[in-house]
Order: sequence, then C-alpha cells, then structure tokens
Amino acid sequence: MTPTPSPFDAVMNITPRPPIVFVSGQGSWLTDSEGRTYLDFVQGWAVNTLGHSPRALVDALAQQAGRLINCSPAYYNDQMIRLCDMLAQHSGLHRVFLANSGAEANEGAIKLARKWGTKYRGSAYEIITMDHGFHGRTLATMSASGKSQWEHLYEPKVSGFVKVPLNDLTAVKAAITPRTVAIMLEPIQGEAGVFEATDTFLRDLRALTRDCGILLILDEIQTGIGRTGRMFCADHVGITPDIMTLAKGLGGGVPLAALLAHRDVACFEPGDQGGTFCGNPIMAAVGCAIIQQITQPTFLDAVTRAGDHLANRLAALSQRRQGGEVRGKGLLRALNLNRNIAPRVAEQALARGLLLNAPRPDTLRFMPALTVNLEEIDRMIDILDGVLLDVAAATDAT
Ligand SMILES: *Cc1c(COP(=O)(O)O)cnc(C)c1O
Repeated sequence: MTPTPSPFDAVMNITPRPPIVFVSGQGSWLTDSEGRTYLDFVQGWAVNTLGHSPRALVDALAQQAGRLINCSPAYYNDQMIRLCDMLAQHSGLHRVFLANSGAEANEGAIKLARKWGTKYRGSAYEIITMDHGFHGRTLATMSASGKSQWEHLYEPKVSGFVKVPLNDLTAVKAAITPRTVAIMLEPIQGEAGVFEATDTFLRDLRALTRDCGILLILDEIQTGIGRTGRMFCADHVGITPDIMTLAKGLGGGVPLAALLAHRDVACFEPGDQGGTFCGNPIMAAVGCAIIQQITQPTFLDAVTRAGDHLANRLAALSQRRQGGEVRGKGLLRALNLNRNIAPRVAEQALARGLLLNAPRPDTLRFMPALTVNLEEIDRMIDILDGVLLDVAAATDAT
C-alpha cells in the first residue's frame, strides 16, 4: 500500500513539525498560509535578534545584494573586514574567522585549540566540556556535547572530550591532565533548558585555565549578541575567554557565525581552516547591521528591562499555577512547570497562536526577539495562563 501523499513528503523528516506552513513575518508576529497569525517566542531558535524582517536587515541585504554577493574567501571584501573589526573591538579578542553555522564555528574552535596544543602544550588535545552541554551537530561538536540522547548515536564518537558537571570546580580540577588543552562551555546552557554557569564558576574557570596554561573556550552562540542584556554573557562577570564562538543572533536570521580568538591563540596557518562561504560579504553586511543596532545607546537597557518584565510575569504566573523556578538572564528564560506537561503546553499554545519551545518535558523556554515590547510579553503570559489552566483541568479530570 502506498501511503497517502502529504504536501511535506519531499522534506526530510528530521524533527516533528506541526502541519502549518509559515509564509511571512513582521517583528514578533508570524503568518501562516491560511492567514492565521502567531505570536513568536521562539524566533528562529533565539536567532531573530530584531524580530521578523526588520528594516535594518532588509536594507542591508538589498543594498549588499546589489553591490557584491560573493568574491570567495580567498580575497578580502569590505564587509568581512568591517564585521571582523566590530567583533574584535567589542569582545577584546583580536582575530575573527567568519563561518556559516554555530557547529562550524565550534568545530573551528576545537581545531584551533588542538592546533595550539600541538604547538604550545606538548601535543595536548583533550577538551573538558560540561554534562548536558550543547555545541552543535557535526561529529566533533556532538562528541563535545553532553546530551545523553546522543551518547550512542553515530558511533564511533570523536575522542578527546572529557565531561564534568556544570558548576563543579572540583570535578574540573580533577579532570585536568597533561593532555588537557582547554575547557569549553556555554555561559548558560540553552538547549539543556536554560541552566546558568554561576558567576563564581566562570571566574574560577578563567583563573584556573590561566594558572594551568590551558584555554578557556566560551560558546556564546545562544547567549551572545545582546540576548542576556549585555553584548556577550561573559560581560556580566567581566571575563574574556581565549576563544569565543557566536552564531544565532549574530546573523539576525541568516546563516552567519564567528570564531574569535586571542592573538596569542590564533595559530591557524594558511590551509588549516576555511570554507567556501566563509566571510561572504552579503552575510557579513547583515552581521554589521545587527551589531550597529545592538550598540545603539539604549538597546541593551531595553533588553534588560524586557527580560526583567518577562521574568517577573513568569514568576507570578508560576506561583498562580503551581509551577517551579524561572531561570535565565535577559531574554533567554525558562519556566519549570514542575510536571512533565511542557510539550503539551507548547502544542496547545500553538493552537492558540503562540510559539513556545519545550526543551525538557517539564520546562518551557522563552527566546523572543530582542525588540519584543512589554505588551507582547503580557499577551504571551495571558495565552500561556489560559493554556496552563486548561491543561491543569484536563489533568485533574483524568
Ligand atoms: C544552536 C547552538 C549551537 C549550534 O549552532 P548551529 O548554528 O545550529 O550549528 C551550538 N552551541 C550552542 C550553545 C547553541 O545554542
């Protein structure tokens, strides 16, 4: 028997998708092919820094498309230079490699650390990473990740990654050997369900890596570019890593990523690293437009204010509906529901025109546009409140 054809058959099934087709978006709102509108608190997975189709990006794309789209990474282009300068200036790091996805930037970070280890630390290559961490979906970045569902997928793994629990300095110290070249982590574990590295842990790791002569790699792919109310999450604690990776918010919705390194660490030699689309002017122009917006005088203060409002409203909602803690910083937040109802809540929210993410069975994640306004946050809370009431009623009835 041939199964009934579906309009989605040609799209490889790599995730359960609802039978909705989005066709346009503006700011915090999406529209589907039936003309229904949705309030978007997923925003391309914490990607659409300025919301859907913001003027600054539309203009940057249109203008750059008319000037120069690609001239190969074998040549400099003006937008590549501009974006690398901006990122170096804001991060305190000195060398920038532009890439196309977070996984690719992290893969580059791992390679750079190994190269540095070969040159300067007696061929050390091991990287200490965190349980439940997420660094991407290439073979090496999956191996670096601490996602339990991936433990036996695509064997054999890339070797050389040692896992420790987040915020456990004793475990980190115990894991350091002469083979260790770096410690790599997210300042806030986003995909795991928004779990923060403590300020103390981050400061201690910075001091420890300096003392031991190894590298600190921060994966700021989800937390960077204003998401937490500062340009980089590390700015909250005042540390600078040796290597940092960015993606998601940097492109504001287009494929753009960056690998940043201290000048003493940036030891790739010609031929070691590259990629056909790396540093292309059209994506770099978008990155510049994003950084320009984020660095407007009041932009990050507004993110902090919106983030505080979101956290306060979530905390009140949680108390009203027997939920648990609210976690996160700025506009990267999670609500623990205390029960494994998060996927059902997200599904019912969608039916009511609200996009939410459930990274864990008991947890909802909120990653709206950094330009989300307080009314949109209130609107989201109202919809979520209704869904939680309904789900509680349905659970009580069974
Ligand atoms: C999303 C993410 C990645 C992977 O980025 P891709 O662009 O999907 O390859 C890596 N690290 C963190 C922390 C992320 O949130």
